[in-house]
Parts: sequence; structure tokens; C-alpha cells
Amino acid sequence: MAQSTMQAAHLAARFRAEDALAGNHTPAAAAAAARATHTMFDRAWANERADVEAEGALACKAGCNWCCHQHVAILGAEALAVQEFIAGTALEERLRARLPALIGLDAEQRRAARAPCPFLEATGCAIYEVRPNRCRAVHSRDAAYCQRRYEGVRDEPVDPTRPIPIEPVSLGDATLAGLGQALDMHGMSAETLELLLALAILQENPDAGPDYAAGGDPFAAARLVQPGTKV
Ligand code: SF4
Repeated sequence: MAQSTMQAAHLAARFRAEDALAGNHTPAAAAAAARATHTMFDRAWANERADVEAEGALACKAGCNWCCHQHVAILGAEALAVQEFIAGTALEERLRARLPALIGLDAEQRRAARAPCPFLEATGCAIYEVRPNRCRAVHSRDAAYCQRRYEGVRDEPVDPTRPIPIEPVSLGDATLAGLGQALDMHGMSAETLELLLALAILQENPDAGPDYAAGGDPFAAARLVQPGTKV
């Protein structure tokens, strides 16, 4: 993928996020900024997907969910977009019911427990519209590889066919960096968080969203800061 493609996606995401945040430091504006960058990722990826698939078809499809049993790295604005989407719905009730069993697990414990994301349903992701950048960007050419990862296999030799193509991940990183820069410019934290930990904070503390949007640090306990953390 051309460097210029990633730069264009990065800038498009950053400018859209800045537009959403301009003069509007609220949880809703932060959520809108996240959604805007997701749209920029989706567009950029739609333009690149055929080229990536020309080098090997992607195996991802509805009902395949080996990758939905692990920590998900997000930014605070993305957590606010999810919270806004589920607020007052049965999904929020489900999240509340399942969080206690999940939020004490570190990345390896979560993988070992094979505990599904609370938003995973038989038909797919229940928050598909607002799913985090990471969930959008990671694809696979080999579902069996994903299953082996789910089952705990970690010592496979590096596969030269690259079951996880780097292109969408790089595009995702570029658009997420654009969101991060816009948040930073508007005084909001761009630290990397864990999805469920951040949502637990939003569930427990109604002031966390406004605090974040005002430049506070309500998500400190959700940060993915451990060196070598796999997300
Ligand atoms: S948010 Fe959706 S796509 Fe992401 S891990 Fe959860 S169920 Fe899977």
C-alpha cells in the first residue's frame, strides 16, 4: 500500500475529527469524532480491499468470531461512541451483567478464559456500527490460524503468507493516529485503553464522559500501559 494512501487516510480522519470537536467539547462530540474517523477508515479500506484480496482472499465472514475473545485497544472517544450507542438498551444491561467476570482479567487471562466480548452474538457484532477501529482493521486470510490462536497456540513459526494482512492494520493505525491528534489538539486524552475497562468506568461513573471531554483523565485505570501488552 502506498505511503500516500495512509497519509491521506490519516489526514482525512484527523480533519473530520477536528471538525466534530471544534468548539464542542462534550462526550457527544468526542463520540462523533470517533465515528467520523471510523467512516474514513471504512472508505479507505473499501478502496484498498480488492488489492489486498488479490494477494489472498480474506476469510473473515459473519459467524466467524475467533478474534472476539480478547482485549481490544481503543481511544477514549471510541468508548464514548460505544456507550452512546448502547445507553438505555438491552446491550447495556448485558454489558453490566458480564463485566464483573471480565474486567479483572489481564490480556493473557482473557485469552485463556476464551471469554467472548459481551457484544458478540450468534449473527455477529451487536455494535457493528460503532465497533472500535481495532475490530474494523484486523482481518485474516486463514480462519484456522485464528482458531489456533484462540485455542492458545503461540509457538507457530512466522508464516510467510501473512495470515493477518498488514495493510488494513496500517490503515487503521493511520486513521486512529488522526483521531488521536485531533483529541490531543482539543485537550482530550489519546492514551490507549482497553475497551471493557473503559466501558466499566463509564458505567460506574456518570461524570467520566464529561470529565474526559473537558480534558480530565477518568480512564486512567483502563490504560494499556504494560510493556509488551498484546492487544
Ligand atoms: S466489539 Fe464487536 S467486533 Fe469487536 S470484539 Fe466485540 S463483538 Fe467482536
